[in-house]
Amino acid sequence: MEKTANRRTFAIISHPDAGKTTLTEKLLLLGGSIRSAGTVKGKKSGKFATSDWMEIEKQRGISVTSSVMQLNYNGVHINILDTPGHEDFSEDTYRTLTAVDTAVMVIDSVKGIEAQTLKLFKVCRMRGIPILTFINKLDREGREPLDLLTEIEETLEMETYPMNWPVGMGKTLRGVYSRADETIESFQEGDEGDERQTFQIDDPEAPLTDADREALDEDIMLIDEAGNDFDREKVQKGKMTPVFFGSALANFGVQSFLDHFVDLALSPQPRRSTSGEISPDDDRFSGFIFKIQANMNPAHRDRIAFLRVCSGTFERGIDIELSRTGKRMKLNQSQQFFASDRDTVEKAYPGDIIGLYDTGTFQVGDTLVTGNDSFHYEEMPQFPPEQFAKVTAKHALKHKQFHKGMDQLVQEGTIQLYRTPYFDDYIVGAVGELQFQVFEYRMKNEYKVDIEFQPYSHEIARWVTGGTITDKMTDQRRMLVHDHKDRPVILFENEFVLTMFQQKFPEIELSSGWGML
Ligand code: GDP
Repeated sequence: MEKTANRRTFAIISHPDAGKTTLTEKLLLLGGSIRSAGTVKGKKSGKFATSDWMEIEKQRGISVTSSVMQLNYNGVHINILDTPGHEDFSEDTYRTLTAVDTAVMVIDSVKGIEAQTLKLFKVCRMRGIPILTFINKLDREGREPLDLLTEIEETLEMETYPMNWPVGMGKTLRGVYSRADETIESFQEGDEGDERQTFQIDDPEAPLTDADREALDEDIMLIDEAGNDFDREKVQKGKMTPVFFGSALANFGVQSFLDHFVDLALSPQPRRSTSGEISPDDDRFSGFIFKIQANMNPAHRDRIAFLRVCSGTFERGIDIELSRTGKRMKLNQSQQFFASDRDTVEKAYPGDIIGLYDTGTFQVGDTLVTGNDSFHYEEMPQFPPEQFAKVTAKHALKHKQFHKGMDQLVQEGTIQLYRTPYFDDYIVGAVGELQFQVFEYRMKNEYKVDIEFQPYSHEIARWVTGGTITDKMTDQRRMLVHDHKDRPVILFENEFVLTMFQQKFPEIELSSGWGML
């Protein structure tokens, strides 16, 4: 199907400040066709970029969300799924990564691979999705290009293939050399214009000194000989990453990145389900919900469920079955998200993301499908929280709202919920502290319940995937609980307690997350 072949859906993984927002803005500018680029405001103007709107939400404490942007480039329809920058919300990012076919890894050339990049990279690798690397801030004195490539290869255990190569760096940056076309995109400091000059490498007009040429020749010889051969199949399986050097801020190397991106990024891929692989060309409309966001308007309790279209064509008013419950319904309240405002969607195709108004029907991980043979897409992976606390309502009389709020917020994936056997205590788990704060705020504001946390010292959660847990195996330091789907989980106080447990009870199989086996 042409619509599918011409779609690309991706997210950027990076450590805060590497330049994700800046690169997104520049890509949107190049795409041009969807909202006018002016709607994406740079931070310099004192306004937030659109992709930062959840940052504002966070400050207001309402919710923390991902937004979706689209651009059209040379006839290719590109969906960018934005992810929260703050690491405390990486669970959101993890889930968003289940809805993309490709990831772009942005690395700061001064800093190399940072903690959050590594964490998110691992999620991409687990899913085997292609990763394109953009090494940013070439206009600064960064690390040696070869050094950065070696770091990627060693830390991420992935082959690299530099698509272009910098000539100089920081103050002496002259341009980047494209290996495919043997051209130089020249760089002039302070020039943020859209028009970049490109020269054939042997063009005497190219703004390179003899020394530049010599250094470039040497580098190219080295990477040609010692580097990997380009292998498209490896790229598409996530085993090799094409690397691009550039500067998002100076809008340098961004367009050629986008040209290659369109070529190398995967179009919407088949997805595993309980009925086998579902091809995007399957006639039945189907998709799954990867994210639920509380509405921007705190006065209303309704939410927006983000659905990734996986097969068929979505049309407004379409009849679907929610496969978890078997309930049938018409989807007519659909909205598609643009950078700054919302339009009603009439049609959407595999790879697209639509937002559905929700009054509590949907859960993260739900599959929606037309026709009579419904199926489920693979379960949404559940990631191991790192902080836990027992939670109670301050006023016992509020228990009804307390349960309601807990239910809804757990379905939205705001926080993970565990219950203890016997006492049935509520234990909440989060990847980061801010997640607790948002949870507390929303319980108070939306459900009018003041809650109390009693923090636990446990740091590690492991799902029990094999063997039977007996009473003697657990105690306060290795506590048995059940997740919201009633699966057994053990909370360990620390690595040491976990290791001891594994040595003592080797028959028990443990996994660090559900769906991550
Ligand atoms: P994010 O946190 O990854 O979204 O990063 P931003 O896009 O907000 O960028 C973080 C900071 O780095 C901002 O001050 C940007 O202006 C700056 N920045 C982004 N790209 C470049 C670049 O190519 N060169 C330089 N010198 N600064 C950059």
